[in-house]
Amino acid sequence: MLVFDWQRDSSGYELRELDHVILEPSDSELDYRPAGLQIIRLGGKLEAYRPLEIDGLYRMLCECPKTPEGALGFVEKFGMPEHPEVQCYSPHRLYPFIDGLTIAVGRYDEGDWRGLVRVINSAWNHTGLGEGATGVQLSFATGMERPEFGLRPRDLIAAIYLQLALDISGGIKLRKCGRCPTWFKYGPGTEHRSTARFCSRTCSNAHSYKRQKNGKAEA
Ligand SMILES: [Zn+2]
Repeated sequence: MLVFDWQRDSSGYELRELDHVILEPSDSELDYRPAGLQIIRLGGKLEAYRPLEIDGLYRMLCECPKTPEGALGFVEKFGMPEHPEVQCYSPHRLYPFIDGLTIAVGRYDEGDWRGLVRVINSAWNHTGLGEGATGVQLSFATGMERPEFGLRPRDLIAAIYLQLALDISGGIKLRKCGRCPTWFKYGPGTEHRSTARFCSRTCSNAHSYKRQKNGKAEA
């Protein structure tokens, strides 16, 4: 069982240049603000969601440009990568994760299994995703015969690497929608045929409508 909850700020995030360290009265580590260009939480309510219900998070992180704006775009969609409650996050912290994933996904796409295993296992070490990145947990509720086994990623980055490793070992295939940025699973045992080009009926309908409007019989 793998249930992973994360949170994002309902008011969003923005880039702001901080020129000095501000410590809020609480003096908590969460309120620490280093100098420089930072992604800042706008202080709304934290909304919970389940990142692992979204397919291809690792593909989306790979596509994220290594710029402050790119990092902001990722955080706006998925929340602060390493702790949902921090007040600010340096875009630079995200870049090594993008690099590691891009190499791993490249090997995956080439079918270079040995290279892939090497990259994944070393990324696990170099980015601090090894020990303690994903913990073991048990859950129990009334009516259950015994506690149920589960895994709990430490943070969003650990969850993304875990999703990649699970997809690789599970033979999961992903394709990007021909109309929107969604990645979807296809092939036997999924909701999409092997030939599917769109993530949803909405996208495929919108595509056919546009084609008709343009007066083209064939794509
Ligand atoms: Zn789509």
